[in-house]
Amino acid sequence: MDHAIALETQGLRAGPNEFPKVSDALLRKLDVPVPRYTSYPTAPVWTEEIGPGAYASALARAGQKDAPLSLYVHIPFCKERCSFCGCNVAIARSSSTADPYLASLLREMDAVCDLLGSRRSLSQIHWGGGTPTFLDERQIAQLFTAISSRFGILPDAEVAVEIDPKVTSRSQLELLRALGFNRLSMGVQDLDPAVQEAISRIQTPEETRAMLDAARELGFRGINFDLIYGLPRQTPRSWSRTIEQVLEMGPDRAAVYAFAHVPDVRPNQKRLPTVDLPRGLDKLQLFRIAWEAFTKAGYRPIGMDHFARPDDELSQAQSRRTLTRNFQGYSVRAASDVVAVGVSAISDVGGVYAQNTHSISRYGSAVARGELATERGVPLSADDVVRRRIITQIMCNFFVDLGPSAEEEFAGELSRLRELAGEGLVTVNGPEVEVTPLGRIFVRNVASIFDGYLTGHGRPFSRAV
Ligand code: SF4
Repeated sequence: MDHAIALETQGLRAGPNEFPKVSDALLRKLDVPVPRYTSYPTAPVWTEEIGPGAYASALARAGQKDAPLSLYVHIPFCKERCSFCGCNVAIARSSSTADPYLASLLREMDAVCDLLGSRRSLSQIHWGGGTPTFLDERQIAQLFTAISSRFGILPDAEVAVEIDPKVTSRSQLELLRALGFNRLSMGVQDLDPAVQEAISRIQTPEETRAMLDAARELGFRGINFDLIYGLPRQTPRSWSRTIEQVLEMGPDRAAVYAFAHVPDVRPNQKRLPTVDLPRGLDKLQLFRIAWEAFTKAGYRPIGMDHFARPDDELSQAQSRRTLTRNFQGYSVRAASDVVAVGVSAISDVGGVYAQNTHSISRYGSAVARGELATERGVPLSADDVVRRRIITQIMCNFFVDLGPSAEEEFAGELSRLRELAGEGLVTVNGPEVEVTPLGRIFVRNVASIFDGYLTGHGRPFSRAV
């Protein structure tokens, strides 16, 4: 297919922000499995070395400081299983199924608070899942009250929730807003009926629009749509139409994720019709369509795969090179320590990553015994901390200053970066490294130069594009 012609025929060409040209050869070279760097060190490096004892020590260490925290709460339940889903979810029909789990969350928060001592102020709260609005209104109020009675929520805190428009009611939204939630992210993925059928997720544009309108009217800010490219049956034409409809609705932000097809890790993905999966340049073409349409409509590209209106705080933070990122996504208020509660939840606190068990029953049993449910993680060495800062800078702000001793500390990395400079992916000016527009498409590959663990772990990551 001639991709440039395909774009012109869909009217998406033009605009000052033209998507960089990617040659077949460059794509073949760089479209390899590479981490997304939501953490560094990345999850395959984690071990059982971090269990309940090490996590308890990390919390106690964090409690010695006096800075706001981020709190992540994981709600693993969904009413139905979407066949493309890559999350850890439990399928249940009735919200009452979540009652014992909520009781466990409260017990875990008590244990965590005991260890944190007086360090309790929160600059960021994020409820993710699964589907947090699987909870009914009584349960939502109960959980939020439990948080606010244990922690001090700062007046300008970012209080965010992920919702699924298919199962969220207007009165749930009203309650969330009344409780203090002020940011909202909704799953959309794709609006084309054939694609929705292929991924077992039927959600009409009217449902999406109604939820967006209601959220706006209630005063939520930073309203985000999650979209996915590379799904079965997506074509340039169908995807252009989806993006057009999204732009008509005009969310404040959009995350345009590459579909990670990992059926060996997520067996539910075996239900997907793989013959229709866009790959290679065809998949990149879909991202290009989104990129050109969003930038033409005035959105700014944020980090690797997000777009935000210029007046959105993410855009402004990126302009100032102060954007940060944690497991919950890009943020301007992410705290230095993230405490996460719930099944499979990942804390980043007191110099360790610590992840709870994936099993709801093991989680419930551990907290019922008064124990933490940590199953694995990694302590960060001094070298990890330095490399994490560099990788975060590259991923968020497309720029890093490696400091005055760059040539001694990062001689190998600089030499590989100079090779990438030859491909047009970065510019290297003394210790300053800037990712070019072409390099932004492959920013994971650029960041991976600083990954001290990349060899020897079998590269269990999704592909770069
Ligand atoms: S609603 Fe979201 S979390 Fe739940 S199964 Fe679908 S994609 Fe996964």
